[in-house]
Amino acid sequence: MLRVTVLGSGSRGNAILVDGTDGALLVDAGFGVRTLAKRLALAGRRPEEIGALLLTHEHTDHASGAAAARTRWGWPAYASAGTIAALDAGTNSSAGDDVPPAAWRAFAATGETAVGGFSVATTGVPHDARDCRALVLTDVRSGARVGIAMDVGRVPDALPAAFDRLDLLVVESNHDEQMLARGPYPWSLKQRISGGLGHLSNGAAAAFASGCAHPGLRGVLLTHLSETNNVPAMAIARTREALRRAGWTREALYAASQGTPLAPLATTGEAGWPVRAHQLGLAL
Ligand SMILES: [Zn+2]
Ligand SMILES: [Zn+2]
Repeated sequence: MLRVTVLGSGSRGNAILVDGTDGALLVDAGFGVRTLAKRLALAGRRPEEIGALLLTHEHTDHASGAAAARTRWGWPAYASAGTIAALDAGTNSSAGDDVPPAAWRAFAATGETAVGGFSVATTGVPHDARDCRALVLTDVRSGARVGIAMDVGRVPDALPAAFDRLDLLVVESNHDEQMLARGPYPWSLKQRISGGLGHLSNGAAAAFASGCAHPGLRGVLLTHLSETNNVPAMAIARTREALRRAGWTREALYAASQGTPLAPLATTGEAGWPVRAHQLGLAL
C-alpha cells in the first residue's frame, strides 16, 4: 500500500504525506505547526501518526516549520548532509534555530536509508540550495515506489534512471514558459526561476513525466505550481499530452494547490487496484 496526500504545495509552503503499509512519513514541512496540524486534520490524520520528517532542501517553503514540528511532535528528521549544514549555519534561520545538528539524521551517502517502513533513495538535483534531493520512497512491505522531485532547476542525467518504474510520480510543474516571460516578475527573478538552478517549467515537467511513463505508473501529481506564472489546467494539459504520446492513458493526473490539500492518490502497486484522488473541498 502506498498513498500520497499533498497537504499544500507552492512557493508559500510545501508538505506531502506519504503512507505506506507500516507507517507514514512527511516530506517537507514548509508550513507552521498550526497549519500542518490543521491540514493533517483535513486529511483525517494526526501529527502523532507521522513516523519521520524528510526534507528535500533547506528553503523556507520546504523547511520553515521543521524545527517547531520536531520540537512539538518529536519527529525524527532526515535530510542531506548539505541541507543539515545549511540549516545549522542558519541559512534558513526559521528552520534551524531550535534544532541542534545532532537531532538531524543524514541520508546515507550511498545506497538507501531505512526510515520507518520505507527505504529512501535520494538523487542530487540542481537547485540554488546547498544539496537539494529528489526522493524515491519504497514501501518495503509491498515494494510500491513513489518518486518525489520538488525543486529542480533541470533534470540531471541520473534522475530518469532513479525514477524508473515508479508506481506514483510527484513532480514540480512550476511555470508556463510564456506566462513567466511575459509576467510581472523582475528580469533577475525570471532568470533565477527559468535557469538551471531554479524550477521546472510545464514543458520540462511534461517531458520528464513522459519519460517516467510505463504501464505500472498509477498516477502523477504536479506540484509547486506558481500562482503568478501558471494555471493548473495548462500544466495538466501539457503533461497529459506528453503522457498520452508516451502511451500512458490513465486518468490519474492532478495538480496540487497552495491553499487546499489534495485528497490521497493511492495504489497498492498491484494492477487493477483503484486509484482515487480529488480535491478536498475545504478552504483554509
Ligand atoms: Zn527551493
Ligand atoms: Zn520550493
